[in-house]
Formats: sequence, structure tokens, C-alpha cells
Amino acid sequence: MVANLTPRPGHPAEADLGKKGTSQPSGASQRWHLLSVARQVTTRKSLRTCGLYSPEGEVRVDLTEKGTASVSGLHTCGSKICPVCNARESAKQIHQVERAASKLLTGRGCSVMLTLTLPHQRGDDLADLLDVLQAAWNAALSGRGGRVWKGYGRTHYLRALDYTHGVNGHHPHFHAVMFFDRLLEEDDLYWLELDVRGRWERAIKRLTGRDCVRAAVRLEHVRGEEDGVRSVVRYVGKSLTGALLDAVWSQSKTTGGRTIWQILASAETNAHDQALWRECEAGFHKRRWFVASQGLLALGEEEKEEDQEDDQGEKESLVTLSDRLWRHLNRVRLVGEFLSALEQHQASPERWSRWRFLCDLSVVSPSEDWTRLVSSAGLQREPLQRL
Ligand SMILES: [Zn+2]
Repeated sequence: MVANLTPRPGHPAEADLGKKGTSQPSGASQRWHLLSVARQVTTRKSLRTCGLYSPEGEVRVDLTEKGTASVSGLHTCGSKICPVCNARESAKQIHQVERAASKLLTGRGCSVMLTLTLPHQRGDDLADLLDVLQAAWNAALSGRGGRVWKGYGRTHYLRALDYTHGVNGHHPHFHAVMFFDRLLEEDDLYWLELDVRGRWERAIKRLTGRDCVRAAVRLEHVRGEEDGVRSVVRYVGKSLTGALLDAVWSQSKTTGGRTIWQILASAETNAHDQALWRECEAGFHKRRWFVASQGLLALGEEEKEEDQEDDQGEKESLVTLSDRLWRHLNRVRLVGEFLSALEQHQASPERWSRWRFLCDLSVVSPSEDWTRLVSSAGLQREPLQRL
């Protein structure tokens, strides 16, 4: 069990993605690779078919200004536990939070980052823990509890659900940010902490019969325009993305339990992780990962149009391929390799030209035998699996 806490060296996913590259696979190629794993282990049809079918029959892959592959033209599932859809959704939400925070933390306002956890142990049911979290939030922070915060000048709030899994089993918890229209003093923070801690501990005790440790509730005061916004974005972004997919393949960054992506990465080869992943799918079904007070996100949307134009302008259109070839690449687990080759097309033009040839061919002649063509192009790096 303990061995699961740190990614094992020589893990198939690691070896597969890391062995050839001179540089780390990008987030995009990792996410698409991980989605191909998810399709094999999921019990949900929407996830199994996510990112495989295009209404027009064609898939476009562009390069963002940052040099990352951006895939479009496909039906996607929109789920928070889908590695590809999560990244899209989270990027949008983080952007909104950043804009909203920059309007609220103008020097006269401040915010409090609030972490709320609950006692948990191995064997606890994830759905039960999530129900308790929600009920404790309602008891401690809406109604009378909410009025206390408002009394101190709270204007807006947001709440993100975060999740890790460790020696004590499922560890879902909330990361909340409260925005105030004034600068709080030390005294204010003292009373606010005392109040929320008391309400939270009482609610947890009533709901579970368990006592909270002191660290179950943590407050951090954030002020200052730039620093404040940066802290809020980092704090919220971490939960929205599931502590970032990059951590799946990075052994050093992993602390405090595994993320859902780390569980997913080994769910295909490890029966325990597969069961765990399925528990996550069931437990998180229809949960609200991100909640914001009314009007908060609208603050972050005013200049959206202008931004979207910018985003479009940053993209360099690189290649179009048929969705048949795309599906084949997904099935034989070459999608990560393909996207990496595209991202490094300038550094390794020869490798990219072979991919490019296949893509161009797939558009004019979609019904080719892709199993044969892809394998004879010498692009795969391991025996084909699951054709
Ligand atoms: Zn999806």
C-alpha cells in the first residue's frame, strides 16, 4: 500500500513517455496519453469515447504560442475527471478567477484562503466523505456562519474541491477563497478563525462522530494586488487541475498523497488502482468541483471577447488528419508520441515529416489500412497493444 504513494521508477507510463525524448513530454501529450489509459479502465461511456470522434471527420492540431499542441474538432465528454476535458475546463476557470481576483484585490480589499478538511481513514467511502464535506460546509459557512463573514466585509467567495489519496485513504477537501472589501486586521482574522473552526469542528462531530485535528481548518491571509492575485490563482488552480497533470510523471514534486491522475496512470496495470479509480468515478459523479458566489465569475468575464481573439491569434495551424487515423493513434497509444513530434517539429523535422505524410494522406484517403501504414512508418516505439 505504502509503495503506491510514490510513483515507481520504471513505471510503464513513465518509461513509455520518457525514454526517447530529449525533453519532457508536454502537458498536452501527457493528457492525451492518459486519456487513452482512462478509456481502457473507465466504466463511463462518455469517457470511453471522449476525444475519438469528429463530426466533420477531421481533427486539427495547432500549436499554441507556448509551443503546446492544441487539438480541436472532436467530441469531448466535459468531465472533471477526464484528463483532457479537465485541463480545458480548468484553464477557463483559472482565467476567470484570475481576472475576478485582480478586480477584487485592488489594494483596498484582501482575501482569506481557507482550507477545510475532515478526519478520514482507510476504508471510508468516498461518496460518504463528500456528502459530509458538503453538509459541513452548509452548516459552517452558510446561514449564521456566512453572516459572520459578511459582517467582516466578505463580498465574494469561491470554493474548489481538491482530492488526494494516501495511507489514510480518500482525502477530499475544500480550498475556499473569501474576498473582502476592506483590509482585515490581526484581530479580525483571529475572530474569524475561531468562529469557523468552532462551527466546522461541531459540524464534523455531529455528522461523523469524529474529532478534527487542529490542522483540519487553515486560514491564510492574502493581500496586495499582484502577490494576492498570484497566491489565489496558485491556490485555486492546484485544486482545479488536480495538482497539475505534470506531477504524474514527476517523482520529486509528489507530496501528501497521490492525485487522481497518478491513480489513473497506473489503473491499467495495477488492480488496486483500477478499483480505486472506479471508486473515484462513482464517488465524484455529479459533484460540484467549483462553486463561486453569484456574480464573481462575471467579474472575470468582461474582457473575455478580446482575450479569445488573442488566443486564436496565438495559434499556428499545423496539421489536419482524418479522425480514423486519430482513433488509430489513440488505440495504439501513439497519440502522446504524435503530439510530441508535432511540438518538436522544428527541432526534429525528419521525425515530423513522417507524421506529416501520414496526416496528409489520411485526409485524402481516410480508409487506408492505418495499422499497416503506421507500423511500416516506424513511428511506434513498443509492440502494439489493444488494436
Ligand atoms: Zn473528456
